[in-house]
Amino acid sequence: MNKRHQIQRLSFAPLSLFLILGCEGSRADKLKSNQNVTSSNPPYLNKLGGLGHTEADFTRHVVELKKKLPSNQFSVVIQSPFVVIGDESQDVVQQRAEDTVKWSVDKLKQDFFSKDPKEILDIWLFKDAASYEKHTHLLFGDTPTTPYGYYSSSHKALIMNIATGGGTLVHEIVHPFMEANFPACPPWFNEGLGSLYEQCGEEDGHIHGYVNWRLPGLQEAIRARRVPSFKALTAMDTNTFYGDTRGANYAASRYLCYYMQEKSVLVKFYQEFVAHQKEDPGGFKTLQRVLAERDMDLFKSKWEKYVLGLNEEFRLSPVRP
Ligand SMILES: [Zn+2]
Repeated sequence: MNKRHQIQRLSFAPLSLFLILGCEGSRADKLKSNQNVTSSNPPYLNKLGGLGHTEADFTRHVVELKKKLPSNQFSVVIQSPFVVIGDESQDVVQQRAEDTVKWSVDKLKQDFFSKDPKEILDIWLFKDAASYEKHTHLLFGDTPTTPYGYYSSSHKALIMNIATGGGTLVHEIVHPFMEANFPACPPWFNEGLGSLYEQCGEEDGHIHGYVNWRLPGLQEAIRARRVPSFKALTAMDTNTFYGDTRGANYAASRYLCYYMQEKSVLVKFYQEFVAHQKEDPGGFKTLQRVLAERDMDLFKSKWEKYVLGLNEEFRLSPVRP
């Protein structure tokens, strides 16, 4: 494992927070009007990778962005296909842009995604809970439903409380890439893959998700027989997935992806799912085929035993990516 790239979400002590989840989006209002504040910090231009946006596009974007910076505490770093904005020091914002954003984008593209998001997206890294709450309100008119961070498609932004660790950031980075590459992706796989990488690192040069804080809650749900069948999970629309049972839905999706990762079929599943999305929009048949499982209820029992046998010991302290 590459220690430098161990990234996780810091869990707020009680594991019952299982029910508090990131990335449920927000009730997006219109952007507040520009404040016309300019930052004294020049944007740090990183190597611009990939096709699509030119350096001139980024420069224009940053000029507009700087008009709405809430104060001169913010630094701006271009990290294609994103622009990273944070109210920590320029060096720290720069380091997060390289070690977390660039690293995860490179690794996700290596295994899954060929297309960048169509538009330049902003990644706001607020230094603590107070800054996160203040600025989500000030900049976006949002009251976040999660203490960690979220992706807002309407604001074209990933909005983070970075004090909770880089894990949520990697989770949220999955979403705009999924949107660009597999727009019809159902919530279970979108959230399953995103949450798989909430705690991640590098294994053999590839991004790898590790057991994390969602495990104890899932084990509890398995024992209480509250985990939906895979047929039901894969057929869930947005309202059902993000409804009352979302805690179990996220966790089951995550550990289904984790299982596939451990069986070395996760990338194959993604490719097959994309290729067969028309005839199998939920991915259930693709799952069955890729796992080579005939009876998916039997498979679920096998998977539940596997999940119950996973080690709960994971570190709760943040590792600076
Ligand atoms: Zn998510």
